[in-house]
Amino acid sequence: MVSKLEIKTRCGFVAIVGRPNVGKSTLMNHLIGQKVSITSRKPQTTQHRVNGVLIKGNCQYVFVDTPGFQKRYINKLNTLLNQSVINSLATVDVVLFVVEAGIFNAGDAEILAVLPQNKNVILVANKQDKLKNKYDLADYLKQLGSKFTFKHELSVSAKHNLGLDDILSSIAPCLPESEFLYPDEQLTDKSSAFLVSEIIREKLFRYLGEELPYSLAVEVNEFKVEEGLTRISATIFVDKTNQKGIVIGKNGEKLKKISSEARIDMEKLLMTKVFLQVWVKVKSGFADEAKFLKQFET
Ligand code: GDP
Ligand code: MG
Repeated sequence: MVSKLEIKTRCGFVAIVGRPNVGKSTLMNHLIGQKVSITSRKPQTTQHRVNGVLIKGNCQYVFVDTPGFQKRYINKLNTLLNQSVINSLATVDVVLFVVEAGIFNAGDAEILAVLPQNKNVILVANKQDKLKNKYDLADYLKQLGSKFTFKHELSVSAKHNLGLDDILSSIAPCLPESEFLYPDEQLTDKSSAFLVSEIIREKLFRYLGEELPYSLAVEVNEFKVEEGLTRISATIFVDKTNQKGIVIGKNGEKLKKISSEARIDMEKLLMTKVFLQVWVKVKSGFADEAKFLKQFET
């Protein structure tokens, strides 16, 4: 009798949760080694679930980058975004609870309160590079560890690629034995059109004020692959007429900057030349409109 040597594979879903700005998107991008989710200094730039996929050894990690959970600007959109964080916690195998090393504020406490007790939750204290006194770190982790039963408590620096292998090896045993669910080359299960709209949103967050981007939306109207060129047309929806002026800027300078930086990122992502047109349209009250909100439900 010939016995076949089988190598068991594991595959599962990992949610990355934490208050805005702790570095969730940076962490996912650096874990995967590619830029799939947008990052910005402004909170809550990720509106949708982006699944980044990583294969390492016999494991396939499927990361879910959640929108920031925040209660500062409450409208129907943000209520739905918060709900989607809670939903993703219920459907994953492992939860990475990301905090900023040395800090634990009301925003962190809100998330801690919704962490599932019956799941593998790993505490990730990010931005350890910002912490001056390294001795405080152990104390900090111990204090947080008394608030919740974490599977592991890790400190890392996503931006500087420190401690990321520890995260992966802590996750691995928690993933169920399973075939790989995604093909090798698949970077993300969202369509390119979606990634393109996220790139535009990232630029909006980068170049507009603190609050305005919360009442903007981006829709990709055309995504056409031609020989050596991708033709993309997108619309930025604003809530009020005066916001349109702010987005476009004096002599169209702001929109030009947003578009041209977005185009450069798209060319890197798609590895083709990109012809990009961006429009700005006023659509009053859309941020509370049921039909518009539907697309954010998961
Ligand atoms: P998110 O809102 O949680 O997704 O946070 P982002 O990934 O968008 O990151 C927010 C900001 O924190 C960005 O300016 C990142 O460059 C920065 N950041 C992320 N990780 C680190 C880190 O390890 N060290 C430092 N110093 N900054 C970081
Ligand atoms: Mg993010």
